[in-house]
Amino acid sequence: MSDPDCLFCKIVAGEIPAEIVHEGERTIAFRDISPQAPTHVLVVPRDHEPNAAATAHTDAATFAEIALTARAVATAEGYDDYRLVFNTGAGVGQTVFHTHGHVLAGRPMGWPPG
Ligand code: AMP
Ligand code: ZN
Repeated sequence: MSDPDCLFCKIVAGEIPAEIVHEGERTIAFRDISPQAPTHVLVVPRDHEPNAAATAHTDAATFAEIALTARAVATAEGYDDYRLVFNTGAGVGQTVFHTHGHVLAGRPMGWPPG
């Protein structure tokens, strides 16, 4: 449920401050400390899992809430278009091993991503 050594578990618990923009039954959303777009918000489950697939496997409703919260955050910030990214594994840039979706919006974005 919670990992005492996990940064995002500490944010969920209120032990480390964050700019929270949305709170749901199963998730919270807060601004990334190093924003890569005008809107860059992280949507994280309250329960600790190491990555998106693990959350989806353990609790599909939580995974669905992450996707719906991402849309709600983008809408609240005035964007119809947004990118939702789940880095999965250190080899593609995952640095915090608590599931999180990056909601990115507000600037043009290339494809494929770098
Ligand atoms: P990832 O590299 O996909 O694991 O994403 C981790 C994200 O967490 C990065 O974009 C970091 O900028 C962000 N981050 C790290 N520490 C904090 C923090 N204390 N508050 C908010 N975002 C953070
Ligand atoms: Zn955690």
